[in-house]
Amino acid sequence: MATKYNMQAEKTPIAEQDPVVRASNFDEVALGYTLEEAINEANRCIQCPKKPCVSGCPVGVPIPEFMKELAEGNVARAYAIVRAANTLPAICGRVCPQETQCEGVCTRGRKGDPVGIGRLERFVADWALDNPEEAAAALAAYTQETEEGQEYTAQKLSQYKVALIGSGPASLTCAGELAKRGVKVTVFEALHAVGGVLVYGIPEFRLPKDLVAREVAAITDLGVTFEMDAVVGKLYTIEELREEQGFDAIFIGTGAGLPMYLGIEGEALNGVMVANELLTRVNLMKAFRFPEYHTPVYAGKKCVVVGGGNVAMDAARTAKRLGADVTIVYRRSMTEMPAREEEIHHAEEEGIHFNILTNPVRALGNDEGWIEGLECVRMELGEPDESGRRRPVEIEGSNFVIDCDMLVVAIGSRTNPLIGNTTEGLEVTKRGPIVVDEATGATSLPGVFAGGDVATGAATVILAMGAGKAAAKGIVDYLLQD
Ligand SMILES: Cc1cc2nc3c(=O)[nH]c(=O)nc-3n(C[C@H](O)[C@H](O)[C@H](O)COP(=O)(O)OP(=O)(O)OC[C@H]3O[C@@H](n4cnc5c(N)ncnc54)[C@H](O)[C@@H]3O)c2cc1C
Repeated sequence: MATKYNMQAEKTPIAEQDPVVRASNFDEVALGYTLEEAINEANRCIQCPKKPCVSGCPVGVPIPEFMKELAEGNVARAYAIVRAANTLPAICGRVCPQETQCEGVCTRGRKGDPVGIGRLERFVADWALDNPEEAAAALAAYTQETEEGQEYTAQKLSQYKVALIGSGPASLTCAGELAKRGVKVTVFEALHAVGGVLVYGIPEFRLPKDLVAREVAAITDLGVTFEMDAVVGKLYTIEELREEQGFDAIFIGTGAGLPMYLGIEGEALNGVMVANELLTRVNLMKAFRFPEYHTPVYAGKKCVVVGGGNVAMDAARTAKRLGADVTIVYRRSMTEMPAREEEIHHAEEEGIHFNILTNPVRALGNDEGWIEGLECVRMELGEPDESGRRRPVEIEGSNFVIDCDMLVVAIGSRTNPLIGNTTEGLEVTKRGPIVVDEATGATSLPGVFAGGDVATGAATVILAMGAGKAAAKGIVDYLLQD
């Protein structure tokens, strides 16, 4: 009998916390599908033969196969299919920009909404976290079917040890892929917590930290060791890791966490901070639960956030939850705003104001050295620039002041030069990223690989994961060439 697909044009809605309620708490916004809703949505996948969604996914999840299993109610098997390709599915289901990747090319998206692939990935991953034994058995069975005959290689690879620097999604993926193949893996992380931006940047209300810890635990269970508070480039150099500690290969996944500043007058006033500082205090150090946790955070009554990316949305929504009335200042229009559509929508729902086509020129301070206003100018859009977006051009004489007692700068970040400066022969570009071969992650130094934001500049979780996966393969090929 032919399968009867669900031809409803819209995605099955997902339950969310009410905007008014959630704007003053740090609990997760989206609440996830029930089993019935998940099956209903999975049935919207029509199993089209070209499977554009698979090539739209940087880690190559066999999406139609997992949809088919889920549509038939086989949640464990659906999970196993996803997890075999994606080390961090509960995370990706929540934060991946699916609209520009798998869902962006979904055949159903030509007439109506694409299939809610992200929501379904989240559903099966959350199910697995709640049913660990059943999930592990399903994954083991699936892996055995698909990776038969690889035991010999695993035995050979177990004689090698590899050091991974940084513990963000690039390294976590690389670690999982290497450990799965039998390699001994040690991850060196500068902070006291594992996860990179997943723990210090993306807020709790989008990505609960206990969930990150649970997906990391699954990687630890594969035998991966984590050495925390270890700043490579200061504590050890890459050369020392290779020559003195005997690592056979190195993967650099140190991200792009060095914040950029506006460079305007008044930026050193009290009450001005970069988004990194606000988010790290709140997410990593749990300042929103001060004094139960020891790190405080400054929260103003009127906050301006400068920027239009995901980081700006996260900073604005965090400041709102700390009690501020928040305005985003962005120099282009809503159309050019790089943040995910969903994040902009959620920010609007939560009452964040948007002052678009506006650029800051000076922060104004009071006698005590605190910020009390941000002088801005109005902008208009001119010809497209090198990014393809229309260049914002200042409208002369349009200066005006926005009153504020808090300013958060969220205009981007760069790679930290520490490792480049302390590693002789490692080629980096003028702007900072490490030069790599995209297919293998190989750098200019034999046995040293890199990937994620440190090679691309600030990008996305799934691109970092794709790079970590490709580098794991590059590292295995390098180790086996002896
Ligand atoms: C606030 C915010 C929100 C975001 N939201 C999204 C989103 O919704 N969706 C999305 O796809 N992407 C999002 N991104 C981007 C995404 O998080 C990054 O692209 C991704 O985390 C990059 O992964 P990575 O592994 O390359 O580096 P990172 O996640 O940056 O991890 C690098 C790790 O290396 C460590 N490290 C750095 N230097 C050293 C050293 N010398 N020695 C040892 N350790 C070191 C750092 O402490 C860090 O833990 C967001 C980014 C931010 C900042």
